[in-house]
Amino acid sequence: MSNTSNRKQAIVIGGGIAGLTTCYRLVTKSAERGIPLNVKLLEAGDRVGGAICTSKQDGYVIEHGPDVFLSTKPWAKALSEELGIADQFLGTNPMERRSFVLHKGRLHPVPDGFYLMAPASFLPFVKTPIFSWHGKLRMALDWVIPRRRKDTDESLESFITRRLGKEAFTRIAQPMIGGIYTADGKDLSLKATMPQFLGMEKQHRSIIKALVARKKESQGGASGTSGPRYSMFLSFKSGMQTLTDTLAERLPDDCIQLGTKVSRLDYRSQVEAQPKSRSIGEEKWHVHLANGEQMEGDLVCVALPAYRAAGLVETVAPSLSGSLASIPYASSAIVNLAFRRSDIEHPLNGMGFVVPAIEERSIIGCTFSSVKFAGRAPEDYALLRAYVGGTGSRGEMYFQRPESEIVESVLRELHGLLGLKGDPQLALVYKHPNAMAQYHLGHLDLVAEIEAQARKLPGFALAGNAYRGIGIPDCINSGEQAASLLLEQGLK
Ligand SMILES: Cc1cc2nc3c(=O)[nH]c(=O)nc-3n(C[C@H](O)[C@H](O)[C@H](O)COP(=O)(O)OP(=O)(O)OC[C@H]3O[C@@H](n4cnc5c(N)ncnc54)[C@H](O)[C@@H]3O)c2cc1C
Repeated sequence: MSNTSNRKQAIVIGGGIAGLTTCYRLVTKSAERGIPLNVKLLEAGDRVGGAICTSKQDGYVIEHGPDVFLSTKPWAKALSEELGIADQFLGTNPMERRSFVLHKGRLHPVPDGFYLMAPASFLPFVKTPIFSWHGKLRMALDWVIPRRRKDTDESLESFITRRLGKEAFTRIAQPMIGGIYTADGKDLSLKATMPQFLGMEKQHRSIIKALVARKKESQGGASGTSGPRYSMFLSFKSGMQTLTDTLAERLPDDCIQLGTKVSRLDYRSQVEAQPKSRSIGEEKWHVHLANGEQMEGDLVCVALPAYRAAGLVETVAPSLSGSLASIPYASSAIVNLAFRRSDIEHPLNGMGFVVPAIEERSIIGCTFSSVKFAGRAPEDYALLRAYVGGTGSRGEMYFQRPESEIVESVLRELHGLLGLKGDPQLALVYKHPNAMAQYHLGHLDLVAEIEAQARKLPGFALAGNAYRGIGIPDCINSGEQAASLLLEQGLK
């Protein structure tokens, strides 16, 4: 399986959005710059897309992984425009922007103007039953509490509790941020996950003050979204897989190799492998496959979860491997359920709801998919999407259950909360084991160390959700950065 032509060979390992983007950029940039380069994508599974997975069934468009991307981070939007699929963008329903939060067994709207952890509007905040009077007064103290002097990393829980009090964390920020990161706020690094709030404290001292200023600004014309054409949260008419399918279609015919699990990498002189065919000293990456075969590459990008990347580089870079292995991951399961609309008593007048850990439920949230996006369910039917799992023993316990038990427990919860009457028309569970990187305290320092160690390896790059952002736009950015690094450093 050696590359006999004069063209350089790049091998990208992992066919999620990060790996696909890396391949696409290697192909487009090398063509633009006239660099002769073969690109191979090795994917262990029988499909590309990784966590991104959409299926269609009985008139439903069903998301088994992510269902949306942020248009305020430029990379996913820009890539879609370049691929010519921006005409398929689908914004969230502008009529039903609200979300609910579970509080003492009942769903309450998140107060208008509330942003993740703090209010920007006075009246809806004062009226909401989600917080006690004591909790509301404590949140208001944010207006006068001085800035933190130290510049060391701080956990989200510590930051929110310090500025806005415990209720702000347990009753709303924990479930909302937990929903994004499937994580526990006591471990999450503020700098790595929500640096905008750190910036708000630095600039305005008070988070509430900063949010009020931001609201005024957006009312004055700066929309807070990425522009007049797009909603802040976007998907595609046929689902998120449109993006990964299109990327895969745009790669050269023989680029993607499915069912190809990589077990180990090493970097050594060609002379050891083929004494007669190469000059002594010409070094290559050797990609060892799980089936015993080997491939050679001049450039390698590992676009896998960090713990898998750690296994691949264990012999070639033990210290890098150790650092990669120290990034923790969480598991989650997505449960899609379809009902006749008349079998749900709740008006479904919102995007969905989140569940604080203190409510001790088996689900961490639920999206009303057919309300959030048009065309996700046939008329007179509703598609719901519940989330199970996350960090902590409780989340892990629910995640580990057999699929039938997960459906049963989700249905039990939703019966009580949404007033379900009949059985679901469709119930599908999709498990994502150890798919969500957890950015714990000190994460950015750890990533800087990983990047420094990775730079020592010639023609080598890392990409994926473990490093500088878990969202789809960030993973795309990581793939683009990896491709640039390989082209600039690897082909010197
Ligand atoms: C349930 C869930 C919901 C999410 N929701 C959102 C959302 O709404 N919006 C958003 O922006 N982000 C969301 N995210 C985050 C985002 O989807 C992911 O961070 C991103 O898709 C990860 O892409 P990736 O390429 O880094 O990794 P992955 O998608 O995990 O891809 C890695 C690929 O590598 C392959 N692989 C693994 N081991 C090997 C090996 N040894 N050899 C070869 N191939 C291998 C795997 O099969 C997989 O295809 C969500 C994530 C999850 C799990």
